[in-house]
Amino acid sequence: MGELHAVEPASRRSDGSPRVGPGQVYAVSSGKVYHPAWCNSVGNVWDENPKRLLVVEETGVGGRKACKACDEPLQA
Ligand SMILES: [Zn+2]
Repeated sequence: MGELHAVEPASRRSDGSPRVGPGQVYAVSSGKVYHPAWCNSVGNVWDENPKRLLVVEETGVGGRKACKACDEPLQA
């Protein structure tokens, strides 16, 4: 799947969770998908182990596919 290089998120919410900016996506190093938005699975990763949740450049996702649940994100 290729190695992920975490970058600094564009901003953070009041709970400390990262918020992606243009060209950034959410991903976990073991995942087969990347997340353009804060969907249910991103929320679950954050709740279970915030350190697993990475923000990366969209160009650096390797063979990962866009997450389908991100079509109906929980929040922007
Ligand atoms: Zn998603």
